[in-house]
Parts: sequence; structure tokens; C-alpha cells
Amino acid sequence: MSHTEEKTSVLLIYTGGTIGMMKNPVTGALENFNFDQLLEYVPEIKGFNLNIYSIAFNPPIDSSDISPESWSQLVKIIYSNYEQYDGFVILHGTDTMAFTASALSFMLEGLMKPVILTGSQLPIGALRTDGKENLLTAIEIAAAKHDDGTPIVPEVCVFFHEKLMRGNRTTKVSADNFDAFESNNYPLLAHSGIELQFYTHNIIPYRADAVLTPHYDMDPNIIIFSLFPGIQPNTVKKILNDKHINGVIFRTFGSGNAPQKQWLVDALTKATNSGKTIVNITQCSTGSVKMSLYETGRQLLASGIISGRDSTVEAALTKLMFLLGSGRNAEEIRRCMNQSLAGEITI
Ligand code: ASP
Repeated sequence: MSHTEEKTSVLLIYTGGTIGMMKNPVTGALENFNFDQLLEYVPEIKGFNLNIYSIAFNPPIDSSDISPESWSQLVKIIYSNYEQYDGFVILHGTDTMAFTASALSFMLEGLMKPVILTGSQLPIGALRTDGKENLLTAIEIAAAKHDDGTPIVPEVCVFFHEKLMRGNRTTKVSADNFDAFESNNYPLLAHSGIELQFYTHNIIPYRADAVLTPHYDMDPNIIIFSLFPGIQPNTVKKILNDKHINGVIFRTFGSGNAPQKQWLVDALTKATNSGKTIVNITQCSTGSVKMSLYETGRQLLASGIISGRDSTVEAALTKLMFLLGSGRNAEEIRRCMNQSLAGEITI
């Protein structure tokens, strides 16, 4: 595709996922095919009055294999191409897309250009694919500008099935439906119907003085741990005492409640005193942790655990990986967890 100075430029980054897969005629399983083949299925791309370039992970990966190293790779690609492009579209498997979108929102500090993640539930070569619509609209969003030339969406987003969502507010909610993602605790940034309608009041405002600062180090030595009725002291203590674990995303009931058991409070207190960061996230799909609401939550506050407020699990996990990876001490991490770094929590 040709490159002229005056046109808006978009970089497509293909990591893998169903969108670029094809059925193996022998096994029937979906396998990756190469990116040039993928673009052949979307000749409409040539209809954009844009400079569109592409770069692909080699080999492409199913998003179950995405790792913090893949996120660093994406940060590197975006940082080294930041000046040349007006926007970025990342094609990604849907299974862990919300984790990647959340991670990038913290790793790309000071981002002021669109980074739009999308993918599909059916391969782009399939007759009823949702991949075409998702890809074409994601490109349109990545290129969209205000009259003064500033980007309309200068943040990391997920675009899927008509909905543009803040990336670190998303969760994959359906393994089957085209409408596979939700942003339960934050409104949409745009809706694509007959018209592409942006809800600018929900979008992070553009700042001309912001400087992109890339971060590459994530600490993966953390765990997501869900409470359930009947959970045993030994199980909890084993996890909280593990010296390799630096942080815990603790999934509690309702507005951040846990059983009123002294052994639990003692185990949590011991862990936070030893320097581990424990973040309280609700198991509910909408709403927020409010630890002072019930006695069952109040006792957790005293044990030193931090409220994850209305954070998704994906955002809480990647934010903690990012903060631990940055070398901040426990007090600084606590302070940052109580702030919105990239619009991930409601303060
Ligand atoms: N397993 C695929 C992936 O996440 C599913 C998809 O792309 O929808 O890579």
C-alpha cells in the first residue's frame, strides 16, 4: 500500500486469533494462516483513503498463549512507530483480549493516539464472519480525528460488535455470541450503527503536552484467588504464605465481603504485613467493592487489603503486575491502586 505524507496512517498489528484462522481440512481444528492471506479476504481495506501498513507476530499466536512478553512486544512496536502513525489497530484473539487491552493501557503511559484492539468470533474467511465489520470499523476509529486534527479516541480500546469500549473496562462475556464483550462499569465510547457515533464525554481528553512513556516490565508472580462458601483455612494460608507470590487479586462476595473468620483476617494481615499486595475485587460482574458497608467487609479493611473498587479482574491483575514490575514499594503501590491511572476505576 502506498505512503503519502498528507494521508492519515494506521498501523495494523496482527498477533493471531480466530480472525486469522482457517479450518484444517484433516483435523477440523482452527489454525493460523498468514496475514497477507487474511487481508485478501478484506479487499474493502483498499477503499479507505488512508495509508495502512501492517506488521505481524511471527508465528501468530492463539491468545491463550499471550504473555507479558507479548505485551512488551506490542509496546515496543507501538513506541517505535508512534510518530509515523496516527492510530494503531491490534488484531488479537478474543479469549485474552481484555487482559492485553488492560495491560497496554498501563504500559503505554501518556498515550495520546488510538490503539484499538479487535478480533472476531468466526474466521475472516467464513461466510458469516464478524471479522470484516470489526476490522473495518476498528480502522475507521483508529483514523478518526476532530476538525483540529487531534485524535477522537486517544486511548487503548476494544472494538467489538458495534461497541467501542475503554480497553481496561472490558471483559469477554460470551464464548458463542458475536456480541462477546461488555464494559459493565463504564459507558461506551462509541457505537457503530448506520453512523459511527462517538460519545466524546466518555473518552479520555486529548492532551497536547502528554509524552508517551513505554513500560516493559510486568511482575507475573501474582494470583487471582476466588472465595467460595466452605473455603478451607489451609488452602488460603498456602497461597498467602507462598514466598513466590507478591500480589493477590482476591475475589470476594458482593460489595467486597468475606466470611467472618478470624483465621482469614489473621492470614490476610500476616500477608499484607509481609509486604504482599492484596486487592479486593467483587465476584459480581457489575458494581463496586465497598468494604465499609458490612461488618464482613470492614474486617478486611483492617487486615490491610486494598479496595479494587469497580475494577474488572483483568484491569486489577494487569495493574498490579505493572505496579509490582515497576519496582514501587508497597506503600506506593497502595497509593497507585487507589488512583485511576488510565480510567480503569471510578474514583
Ligand atoms: N482461541 C481464540 C483466541 O483467543 C479465540 C478467538 O480469537 O476468538 O486466540
